[in-house]
Amino acid sequence: MNLVELKNITDKYKPFYYKEVLKAAFFNLSESFDEITVLPKDLRAELESNCSLEIKSKLFVSNDKRTQKALITFDDGLSIETVLMSHEDRNTVCVSTQIGCSLGCRFCSTGKMGLKRDLTDFEIVEQIIYWQRLLKDKDKKVDNIVFMGMGEPFLNYENVISAIEIIKNVCKIGARHISVSTVGIVDKIIQFAKDEPQVNLAISLHSPDEKIRDKLIPANKKWSLTKILQAVDSYIQKTNRQVMFEYLMIDNVNDSADHAKQLVKLMKQNKLFVVNLIKYNQTGKYETSSREKMDQFRQILEKNKVKVTQRYSFGQDIKAACGQLAGEMTNSK
Ligand code: SAH
Ligand code: SF4
Repeated sequence: MNLVELKNITDKYKPFYYKEVLKAAFFNLSESFDEITVLPKDLRAELESNCSLEIKSKLFVSNDKRTQKALITFDDGLSIETVLMSHEDRNTVCVSTQIGCSLGCRFCSTGKMGLKRDLTDFEIVEQIIYWQRLLKDKDKKVDNIVFMGMGEPFLNYENVISAIEIIKNVCKIGARHISVSTVGIVDKIIQFAKDEPQVNLAISLHSPDEKIRDKLIPANKKWSLTKILQAVDSYIQKTNRQVMFEYLMIDNVNDSADHAKQLVKLMKQNKLFVVNLIKYNQTGKYETSSREKMDQFRQILEKNKVKVTQRYSFGQDIKAACGQLAGEMTNSK
């Protein structure tokens, strides 16, 4: 899909055609401008030769069929990955916000790529449209969106906010069904509270200890745990919304009983904090925590009345699980 010129072209005719095209492409799921018959014929022809509704993609399906991953390639030859997780009653799409990521977290495959570029708002929405088209044939639809694919959403803030507005207003997916995960870009957490897009916020915490977090997440040196928690507090004061803290369980790094107790202390500071324990998907460095250690960790949180949920891993066989997205064909123009 390439809609860079869309606004310039529609504005030459009537400005409201822009909205018509967005509705046709992002809500009615039109796959060619010819289908958009509310537009005059010459506009359709001009759009057809300057823009494209085609999505260049390659699909991978996991053995249990519950997880699908698509590699989407843009006009500049660069690619990203997006994932569809199908549950009995709902379909969740994980979207990427950047091609690569500049932050280099030690446990994340995307981090190893470095940053190639930001995605535009349309390139973010395109990932959802890809899955909507695929699901439409089965009379199904996308129910939830998580901004947890490649990239750091809050380092591409404007485009992410714009994509969220399109998802809510044009795709008609409710704010409560949208979640954004950040490693903790402090000024943008505060900005997010001001902009109040009403979507869910998740923070990748991964350790209650500054020194351990420094090692796992180099960006902690700039945006420390302490500063992040202050920003989250002011976010909650302003929005009164629950905030989820994601916690990767990495063997012998952050998974001991002492770490759990330290985490309890932090989480007790606010009733609207929730912990989400995540199984670490091996990406080279580090080992996954054992089942027993994860259970022990969880029990310590529960005993101390910290709200905790556990995320199950999907699609490891097609490298579609958290932290495994790396856009393998990125360099194969
Ligand atoms: N940049 C954002 C969003 C993308 S990463 C962030 O870091 O929050 C989405 C989630 O996947 C984050 O919680 C991240 O910590 C987690 N993740 C990264 N690598 C992982 C791995 N190897 N196994 C499991 N989860 C991982
Ligand atoms: Fe970037 Fe998130 Fe991966 Fe860290 S975990 S490198 S912030 S995508």
